[in-house]
Amino acid sequence: MTKPAVLILLGPPGAGKGTQARMLEEKFGLVQLSTGDLLRAAVAAGTEAGKAAKAVMEAGKLVSDEIVVNILRDRLAQPDCARGVILDGFPRTTVQAKALDALLAESGQSINAAINLEVDDAAMVTRISGRFTCCDCGEGYHDTFKAPVAVGKCDKCGSTNMKRRADDNAETVASRLVAYHEQTAPLIAYYKARDVLKSIDAMGDIDTIAADLAAIVKQATA
Ligand code: AMP
Repeated sequence: MTKPAVLILLGPPGAGKGTQARMLEEKFGLVQLSTGDLLRAAVAAGTEAGKAAKAVMEAGKLVSDEIVVNILRDRLAQPDCARGVILDGFPRTTVQAKALDALLAESGQSINAAINLEVDDAAMVTRISGRFTCCDCGEGYHDTFKAPVAVGKCDKCGSTNMKRRADDNAETVASRLVAYHEQTAPLIAYYKARDVLKSIDAMGDIDTIAADLAAIVKQATA
């Protein structure tokens, strides 16, 4: 049996990791694992991890490696992950990257590719501040770049229930970008040294980026 694929999407907040991960999930049958989504669910459920993470997330800082690695380990152990995973927003520190290597080694797995979505910092604040999501199916939208055909109505499932993230405001976005540059950007060199780094220009339109990404995923999982 072939080993389940493990793909990582790297890039600053607003680079389009979530949007692209969902498209890859549909196209390749992979499971999207977003530690941001898992943490938001823990906050909403009021778990111990969620209580500890809430204020840190609201400040745009990184949640402790211990909490995030535990959440990811539990999720990776779910049976659906045997289809292969696309990690979105994890790892975000070198400690997390090493923990992931160790977790994968336990089951004889390894990383197929870490794909860096290259974007300009200046564009990130605009991208993030206009975005919203369908509460019912999770489809992502943007005031300027991807508005629903009918105002306020999800193109995919018809729901009129939309939400914006609490941390998608200009002040928190600035902290999230600092956290990215200080703690996450070093992972580009980490994966380059392990010969699994791929980079794509993620400033263009969503469909072109999706096509570039799909070509890399196809090759990395062949
Ligand atoms: P995201 O949805 O990926 O933008 O993450 C939202 C917030 O969740 C981040 O600003 C962090 O506070 C927290 N978070 C998500 N993933 C991680 C991670 N791998 N390590 C630390 N904090 C994380």
